[in-house]
Amino acid sequence: MRERPILKPCPFCGAGEASFDHMTHWTGQRSVIVNSTLRHWCESEDTRHPLITITRSNDDDCIAVWNKRIGGDV
Ligand SMILES: [Zn+2]
Repeated sequence: MRERPILKPCPFCGAGEASFDHMTHWTGQRSVIVNSTLRHWCESEDTRHPLITITRSNDDDCIAVWNKRIGGDV
């Protein structure tokens, strides 16, 4: 089993909790993940858009984007 990259805490509310939704496609033999959406409900009162979503082709890419966002100047 591959280890999942660690999600950094949110810069706004400090929580590192997020859920993943997967769009799957049934090929006839198995279902494959078409894309993955990371959802984080931000609990910070300063945030105008409390629901943060990142959609990429898989969980790891979502996490990479999330972590990059945290690291950059927001
Ligand atoms: Zn947050």
